[in-house]
Amino acid sequence: VLEVHGLTRAFGRRVVLDRLELSIAPGEFVALLGRSGSGKSTLLRVLAGLDAVPAGVARLPQRRAVVFQEPRLMPWKTVAQNVALGLRRDDAEQAARAALAEVGLAARADAWPITLSGGEAQRAALARALVRQPELLLLDEPFAALDALTRIRMHALVGDLWRAHRPAILLVTHDVREAVLLADRVLILESGQITHQTAVSAAHPRRHGDLMLAALEAGL
Ligand code: ATP
Ligand code: MG
Repeated sequence: VLEVHGLTRAFGRRVVLDRLELSIAPGEFVALLGRSGSGKSTLLRVLAGLDAVPAGVARLPQRRAVVFQEPRLMPWKTVAQNVALGLRRDDAEQAARAALAEVGLAARADAWPITLSGGEAQRAALARALVRQPELLLLDEPFAALDALTRIRMHALVGDLWRAHRPAILLVTHDVREAVLLADRVLILESGQITHQTAVSAAHPRRHGDLMLAALEAGL
């Protein structure tokens, strides 16, 4: 669903992504680890189309959606209006409400964003992504600002949504345990490249050990 070949992105002299290679299969759940400043968000912005790349470097699906660390809801629109924003279909309102129901937020559809808790706002952001029926869902540390219990609930929700709709997911996180818990494959971004990958499976505890070591070596 996604192919990136030789992606380089520099800010002035600082090369953040250095001939990076990445491919993700349809429906695959991939987690991307990397220390602060390693370029995770820079990569996600490119994949989201928020940052231009030279032609031929990235092959991406049309239907993509992003959830950031902050929910980024428009305060002057209701939750349902936020979810329906930019949808070009007759049943936008209905689709928004259905997506909100799916993330457990049906009762808050007509609320103002400012009245939502952090976890609820992030659910609304997930609904806004989901309603676009993305083939590729990009998640940039979406749980980082939440308390531990809310984070665990969000893990379960994202797992359920993934199994129900099967988008490919690229989840950026600092948290090795979160990556192992949710993803099929865990990548480490370091010095502008993917320096490590592990296919995760509960049946292979040894791989977890290898991943933990790689994460430690990457300064995580
Ligand atoms: P964090 O885990 O803290 O979110 P990150 O891995 O997401 O970090 P990025 O936000 O991708 O890191 O930033 C990577 C590097 O690129 C940093 O050194 C950052 O200062 C630099 N950078 C990112 N965006 C810009 C920009 N628009 N202009 C200049 N430098 C930038
Ligand atoms: Mg970031």
